[in-house]
Amino acid sequence: MALTIVTNESSFDPNANLTGDRHLGTRDRFDSSTQFDYPGKAVGCLKAAKMLQGRTIPSSIQSIWGPILDGEKRLLDPITITCTSRMPDLNDLERGHDRQYLKDLQASVEKSKACAEASADPFISDFGKEADITPGTLDAARLAVGAAYDTVDILLRSKHGDTAFGLVWPPGHHAERDLAMGFCYLSNAALAALYGRDHITQLRPGHPNRVIVVDIDHHRGNGTADVLANQANTLLIDISYRSPYDESRQRYTDGQYDANQCRYLNAGNEYPYSRPDRDWGLEAHPMPVASNIVSVEFEGEQRPETIMMRFIDQVLPIMKSFSPDIVLWSVGLDSAMGDPLGGLGNLPSSFYTMLRGVRLLFPDARHGGFLEGGYDEQRWFTCLPPALLALHEQPQDAGNRCKLFAKYRHHFLP
Ligand SMILES: [Zn+2]
Repeated sequence: MALTIVTNESSFDPNANLTGDRHLGTRDRFDSSTQFDYPGKAVGCLKAAKMLQGRTIPSSIQSIWGPILDGEKRLLDPITITCTSRMPDLNDLERGHDRQYLKDLQASVEKSKACAEASADPFISDFGKEADITPGTLDAARLAVGAAYDTVDILLRSKHGDTAFGLVWPPGHHAERDLAMGFCYLSNAALAALYGRDHITQLRPGHPNRVIVVDIDHHRGNGTADVLANQANTLLIDISYRSPYDESRQRYTDGQYDANQCRYLNAGNEYPYSRPDRDWGLEAHPMPVASNIVSVEFEGEQRPETIMMRFIDQVLPIMKSFSPDIVLWSVGLDSAMGDPLGGLGNLPSSFYTMLRGVRLLFPDARHGGFLEGGYDEQRWFTCLPPALLALHEQPQDAGNRCKLFAKYRHHFLP
C-alpha cells in the first residue's frame, strides 16, 4: 500500500524562496503582492511532503505533529512523487465547462501574451472574479487538471488500496462552468470526479463508478457544486465557513469596523460571498442547489471537536447511504485554525482523522485528494503532512499513533 503524489509543479527546488516566487514553477503568473494564491504554495507543499517522507521534521513542527507521530522514529514506506505533463485539451474540458467559457479563457490568455510581448502589463483582471489572467494561466490550469486525471488513473489501477494525491496549482473549487473565481480557472476536483465516474475501469462491472467529493476548504466549493449539480452517481459534501453576520450587521464578529473607511478591516474570512456586503459593494454569490450537493456550513470559527462531531453525526451517514467507489478530498489547508484568509478551526490532527477515518469506513473504495486553498506557510507544513500520512498509512492499523484519531476511531468502523 503506498501513496503517490502527482504534481504539476515541474521544478521543485528545496531551497526556493516560497514567497518571492515569480521565477518558480508555473511561474510567470502571480506576484504574491497582487494575489494570494501562487506557485510558491505548490513548492512549499511539496517541501512539506518530502519532509514527511524523510522524517526530517524540524523540532518547531514536531511539537505540533506530536499527537500524530507520537515520537515514532521509523521511516515511512516510500512515497512516490511524480510530475505530470498531461494537458487536457479544450474538448476534454467541456466535460465540466461551457465551450464559450473555455474559448473566452483562451482569448484572454492570448490577449495577455500580446501585452507581455509589447512590454505592457500582462495582467487581465476583468475576466472573472478575483481570478487574474496572465500568459501562463491556461497551461498551468490545464496541467492541474492533468494531474487530477493522473491521480484518478492511479486510484483505479490500484490493486492494494493504494492512494494518490494531486498536489496541484492553481486550485479549482471556485471555478464554475462559465466563471473563473477566487484564483480558480478549471474545476479540478469536479472534472476529476466526472472523469473517474465515466472511466473505462468500473469498480463494480456494469455500473458507473460512484464518486464523492468531500470539500474541506474553509470556503464554499461553489465551482465544484456548479459542475457536479445533478450529475448522476456523484455527490459533493461541502464543509465550509459562513460569516457570522447578518445584513444589518447586528452580529458581525469578524474584523473591525472602521467608520472612516466605512468598511470592515481584516475581515477576509468569507469567500465567495454567501451574503451581500454593501460596504464593499459585493453581491452574494449563490451556491447551486441540487439533490447531490450537501452544504455543511458553520457560522463563524469553531472548536475542532465541534467540526469533528458534526462531520461524524451529519456527514458520515450521508456518505454511507451513497456508498462510494471513489472518495476525492478537496483539501483546503485554509480551514486550519488561524489561517489568515480562512481559519474555520481544524487542527493538523483533524485532517488526519477525517481522511484516515473515511478510509477505514470504506475499505473497498479508492481514496485520493487534491490541494485547494491555504494561505499560511506554517500551516502547509503542519496540516498537509498529516493529511498525506492519513492516505499513506494502513487505515486498519490499530496503532494509536494519533490520540485524537484513537478517540474518534470507533465512529469510523464499517
Ligand atoms: Zn479557501
